[in-house]
Amino acid sequence: MFRGLTRFLPGSGEQLKKLLDSPDSPVEALTPQVIPRSEHPVSRKQISDAALKVLYRLDGAGYEAYLVGGCIRDALLGETPKDFDVATNATPEQVRDLFRNSRLIGRRFRIVHVRFGREIIEVTTFRGKPQDEHGDNIAQQSDDGLLLRDNVWGSIEEDALRRDFTVNALYYSIADFSIHDFAGGIGDINARTLRLIGDPATRYREDPVRMLRAVRFAAKLGFEIAPDTEAPMYDLAPLLLQIPPARLFDEALKLFMSGQGLLTFQLLSHYGLFGMLFPEAEEAMADAAWVETLIEQALRNTDQRIANDRPVTPAFLFAAFLWGPVALRAAALENEGMPAVPALQTASQQVVMRQLQHISIPKRFGMPMREIWELQARLPQRRGKRAFQSREHPRFRAAFDLLLLREQAGELPRGLGDWWEAFQQGDEHEQRRLLQKVGGDPASQGDRRRKKRRKPSRKPD
Ligand code: ATP
Ligand code: MG
Repeated sequence: MFRGLTRFLPGSGEQLKKLLDSPDSPVEALTPQVIPRSEHPVSRKQISDAALKVLYRLDGAGYEAYLVGGCIRDALLGETPKDFDVATNATPEQVRDLFRNSRLIGRRFRIVHVRFGREIIEVTTFRGKPQDEHGDNIAQQSDDGLLLRDNVWGSIEEDALRRDFTVNALYYSIADFSIHDFAGGIGDINARTLRLIGDPATRYREDPVRMLRAVRFAAKLGFEIAPDTEAPMYDLAPLLLQIPPARLFDEALKLFMSGQGLLTFQLLSHYGLFGMLFPEAEEAMADAAWVETLIEQALRNTDQRIANDRPVTPAFLFAAFLWGPVALRAAALENEGMPAVPALQTASQQVVMRQLQHISIPKRFGMPMREIWELQARLPQRRGKRAFQSREHPRFRAAFDLLLLREQAGELPRGLGDWWEAFQQGDEHEQRRLLQKVGGDPASQGDRRRKKRRKPSRKPD
């Protein structure tokens, strides 16, 4: 694509490896490959006005200012970047003082958000090595290497080596529009390879979320994960259990709602990562074949909707991911003699409780998720006014979509989905005909309650 750049490939990787192998070596010795504006394709037209404003103001105030990370990676790949990350030698307080529209956020990793309407530019101060001490900003690491805080300021060279993948450590300078490559990222972009900077096992121990990021970028960019970067994941996957559930919720959204959800799911499963995020779903997949089919189909549909610019909601995706364990538990409870409705409620509660220990689900998604499940028990019941009541439920459409997935995946025989499809499409006359078919025309029967208690059965009537 931009072949001229491959001349920067040899050398930098080896040089970097030597440096990282000897922790005491002076990081200053690392010289970046500088690619002048005339030799790379990233143009200011690809950069948002808001990002340019931040860069120019920092530069004007005498600070260093670079675009870094996904925006430069994506721009080099010919994609339009969706958000912009700025790296600077100004401290968060200095950045905040420059922008009225800014806010300091984060504890583990302090950064500044500068807001322009709906767009937020993330500004981070160059990070140094975690062992360093600069004033009271001390990076903290747990006994097993987990980075608890990372607020030690450093030079741009140190900052580059703290980043995760070589392709994420490319810096675009606003001073002369050149790109600085400290870790061989340009070569890896050309080779479409995702490679962690430094020793992969150490980097995963510092932050196990990097394993999820490896999978996410591999799926999103269509890159191969380098063998060294891939190898430790199988063993280290359980480290994800140390990550706070709130952070994993954010990661889960990025994993499954960025257009390559199905491939992401398959890669996560391959590396043993999926079970660390959704243990109940993983266990249910082993118990019933339809569970995995349903999850895959949900992701296929989500990817399709995203490709068509249609909205997707995490509530539906979580409902689909967890429906397998909910349904299997509910069936087991019914077998023990519990009636269907409380069985479903109890199963939902148990599954959600266990899930929240891994990934937190904010109420605004958790509530609709449960409603989508509850409606699964109501959709088969169409007598009297019930069909109309279900139809009016705010979660009806999502519940109907889950019903279709259940039929497609083979959990349920086909039929109920077709009935509801016809009921939604039909005019008043057609709706009445459909209701008569199930013995539930409201005009002739009213809101009749069933007299006999249904035998425990998982099939809809
Ligand atoms: P995208 O925004 O497209 O998801 P990105 O690479 O910009 O991808 P961000 O999460 O926005 O990802 O992070 C911005 C940059 O910060 C990354 O490119 C990387 O350099 C660095 N970074 C983010 N998370 C980590 C991490 N866990 N460990 C090391 N560096 C990280
Ligand atoms: Mg980004």
